Amino acid sequence: MFDKLKEQPADSLLALINTFHADPREYKVDLGVGVYRDEHGRTPVMRAVKLAEAYLLETQDSKRYLGPQGDLSFVSLLKPIIFGAGPNLGDRIVGIQTPGGSGALRIGAELVAAANPNAQVWLGTPSWPNHAPIFRSARLAVKDYSFVDLATQKIDFARVVEALSSATAGDVVLIHGCCHNPTGIDFTAEQWKQVAALLVEQKLVPFIDLAYQGLGDGLEQDAEPARFILDSVDEAMVAYSCDKNFGLYRERVGALYLASRNSMDLYIADTNMASLARVNWSMPPDHGAAIVRAILESKELTGIWKTELQEMCARVNGNRAELAAAHPDLAFIATQRGLFSNLAMSKETAAALRLKHGIYLADSGRMNLAGMQPADADAIVKALHAEGA
Ligand code: PMP
Repeated sequence: MFDKLKEQPADSLLALINTFHADPREYKVDLGVGVYRDEHGRTPVMRAVKLAEAYLLETQDSKRYLGPQGDLSFVSLLKPIIFGAGPNLGDRIVGIQTPGGSGALRIGAELVAAANPNAQVWLGTPSWPNHAPIFRSARLAVKDYSFVDLATQKIDFARVVEALSSATAGDVVLIHGCCHNPTGIDFTAEQWKQVAALLVEQKLVPFIDLAYQGLGDGLEQDAEPARFILDSVDEAMVAYSCDKNFGLYRERVGALYLASRNSMDLYIADTNMASLARVNWSMPPDHGAAIVRAILESKELTGIWKTELQEMCARVNGNRAELAAAHPDLAFIATQRGLFSNLAMSKETAAALRLKHGIYLADSGRMNLAGMQPADADAIVKALHAEGA
């Protein structure tokens, strides 16, 4: 049987991590990986997480099953953080816990396929490389359109309008809620308004991917566009990840939320989410969600977490400012948000930066701003200049 399979390419970003570690040079900068790094180059366990784990170790008295929806206290404690304290949002939103944002996207994709197998999923490119495969693996057609022009570092908004205008009622539009991966370029307030109007006019369903809340401008600011879209439309889906903003990556913590103005539809969709979870992983892993619950249940831990997250956010934006100040051609980096910016460059240039200068970034030109120290800015600019990037 196995001889019928085709070899699949290894994840090139994961391979890059190994190449970086094997590089014996003293001076090297890892802008490749997709995780937060502190000023020592580490991806630490957050203090609030450590305290929550200590609390869980002491108080958790059972590991019995929780069910396919996971920890529903976790799901509801996150709600005000994502959706705000508004009175109407609470009742029109249901959710389940998922293994990471990836699990939420997967269940969301299957839910779309179950409700409307002919739905097309509109995906602006470039995007997180796993988006299209996840939707395709749920047998949905993915329609991609150029979202950002890397040469100008601007959203090709005319193309966005054109794409959404040509979509069919019932189609799904994948939207990065904040901190666009890989470009760091989000819609302006005016563009969000136009996008919301188009979604309503064309009867499209937004599927908002919110994987970096708090790492752009702050928890509240980063959630505003998603809240605005939810206020505007009748139905929406939100794939949420706690893996970056709680630093819980390998614990796989996320949630899928559905919003509808029709409570019966919402109830039925909720039962569908649970049954899809059941056939995928039966029940999500608990530990990471239990940590988030313990943090959000405690005023003190929530305060510690928010302070740490603000520090992380400030560090990333500080690096952005440093790099932008190091060369006028990189000024756009200061206006972008989240962990990533995506320089326009060929694979060959990315390889030259790696081999000749020890500057590691993805072959696509994506760079993780948390991977550098402010003092690296000049070396990065010099290397980019030497390679004509
Ligand atoms: N969406 C985007 C845009 C991401 O960048 C990522 C992670 N890199 C995810 C979803 C998935 O997050 P998780 O690790 O929680 O599955």
